[in-house]
Amino acid sequence: MQETHECLTCGRPFPRGQGVTFSVSGKNLEFHSKSCAYSFMRELLYSLKEDCLTLPLREVLAKYEEKLEQSKKKAEKKI
Ligand SMILES: [Zn+2]
Repeated sequence: MQETHECLTCGRPFPRGQGVTFSVSGKNLEFHSKSCAYSFMRELLYSLKEDCLTLPLREVLAKYEEKLEQSKKKAEKKI
């Protein structure tokens, strides 16, 4: 029998290996679709206190800026 998960946002069951799953703070977060994951994550993000968010937000932004910078450099080299 195939193991199924239940979407935390809408309750829809979905087979293992599909959907979006995260493991955060020892909890498995399981969503049947990206949009359900997005709703949940947005709720979670907005419920965090701003001072808890400032540093990780800065770090993640910096990481993505670096990635974008690198891919721009790669694109320039190809031309
Ligand atoms: Zn769902």
